[in-house]
Amino acid sequence: MLPDSRQFDAALRIVGELRAAGYEAYLAGGCVRDLLLGREPKDYDVATSATPEVVLGLFSRTFSVGAHFGVVLVADGDDEGYVTTEVATFRSDGAYSDGRHPDGVRYTRSAEEDVKRRDFTINGLLIDPEKLLPHGLDIESHPFDSAQGRLRHKNKDVARVGHPAVIDYVGGVGDLEAGIVRAIGRAELRFEEDHLRMLRGVRFAARFGFELEEGTAAAIRRLAGKTVAVSRERVRDELTKMLTEGRARRAFELLEETGLLAEVLPEVARMKGVEQPAQFHPEGDVWVHTLGLLGQLEEGCSATLGWGALLHDVGKPPTFRRAPDRIRFDGHVEVGVAMGAEICRRFRFSNEETGRIVALIENHMRFADAGRMKASTLKRFFRLPGFEEHLALHRMDCRAGSGNLEHWEFVRERYEAMPEEVVRPRPLITGRELIAAGYRPGAGFKEMLRAVEDAQLEGTIGTAEEALRLVRERFPLPG
Ligand code: ATP
Ligand code: MG
Repeated sequence: MLPDSRQFDAALRIVGELRAAGYEAYLAGGCVRDLLLGREPKDYDVATSATPEVVLGLFSRTFSVGAHFGVVLVADGDDEGYVTTEVATFRSDGAYSDGRHPDGVRYTRSAEEDVKRRDFTINGLLIDPEKLLPHGLDIESHPFDSAQGRLRHKNKDVARVGHPAVIDYVGGVGDLEAGIVRAIGRAELRFEEDHLRMLRGVRFAARFGFELEEGTAAAIRRLAGKTVAVSRERVRDELTKMLTEGRARRAFELLEETGLLAEVLPEVARMKGVEQPAQFHPEGDVWVHTLGLLGQLEEGCSATLGWGALLHDVGKPPTFRRAPDRIRFDGHVEVGVAMGAEICRRFRFSNEETGRIVALIENHMRFADAGRMKASTLKRFFRLPGFEEHLALHRMDCRAGSGNLEHWEFVRERYEAMPEEVVRPRPLITGRELIAAGYRPGAGFKEMLRAVEDAQLEGTIGTAEEALRLVRERFPLPG
């Protein structure tokens, strides 16, 4: 099977046109790495010696969003549908005095210089598509067999190492083969330049099941404290990717081992070594338990579920107490809710995402009570936005601990059996009917309508007349 042909073909055409105009051009970065690993790249990047002005002039449909730092988006297709390819001019980034952005961008004609400003050797490879396709850019002869995870050249498999189409100035092919994430150049310098790279390194190691090269890991350990200078949004986005790429457990183990976790999420780092009562948590301490949930997060899961899993027990370390009978964490949910809200604020989550994440923390202990809930309480529980995430979190929570899925099954069965109109029935009456019945609009309406809804959800009333009778009984009109 070939990488998604539309995007791949578009990138190849762009490379061809740049070359026809006399410039150097290659596929570069993450897409090359993914192709060599037999993974389908999310997108394709082209690196070229042409300046942004030239690129803007050569192609008819372009977006110059990042032209000031050398990136032009080139669209391939028509109004009906098109794909975009990032075309980046070879550059060598100048000094980074703030640990975040290069002070200036300098274009270069040297592909080698461009590769050397990139972060990791596995991200520093180029493909020369013309060597791949000796008969020109014949898009029908698909060169990659990603199902088999190896480069195919015409009909014969070729070893990945030494493939004539792959240009490797940094030893990236060897590191890909060996499964190593290694900084290009001196790791410390590279992380001093841009501190976010430390998190990226962990993310790539986790995603591909690679090891961090020793010197690279040592540099991260030394410089982990610098991540405080990175914008919280960028840190958040890296952590979210780690949580949702299907290898969250490994990612967080590496964050912990390298000392990054204590810098970016000290509240989570504190979970390590916090003992739990063995009868409920045979698996071990709060950190081990949390890793047990992260290990169950699937690739493509929602960001809020990922963060909810990470933070569901964040209130445990500060509430740990050795009571006479056993270890207790009284109030850990309430404390966790406050901490979760603070973490979400710090990482600039939207109000909606914050609401979801905090609700996951807040409700994660309620499943055990579901069997004793009144019908109205249970239905309101089901009305939580994204209730499936609550179900998913509880399941992971049980499986990472006692393994007892009784409560989960009980709730899931009821949830699945209950149609939407039963969970969220149309209101029997509204404020209008209350006014017509002689009530003065005001704060009391909310309480009255809530009492009506309770009874409706309990199934004790079912009509507007019954609803008004209930209101008159419980909230008698004066006089
Ligand atoms: P992903 O699959 O997550 O998109 P990617 O390798 O494509 O991974 P991008 O963030 O899309 O990562 O960046 C594309 C390429 O740009 C990288 O492969 C790398 O060569 C380079 N790059 C990106 N971010 C940095 C950085 N902070 N420092 C140096 N090089 C970087
Ligand atoms: Mg990418």
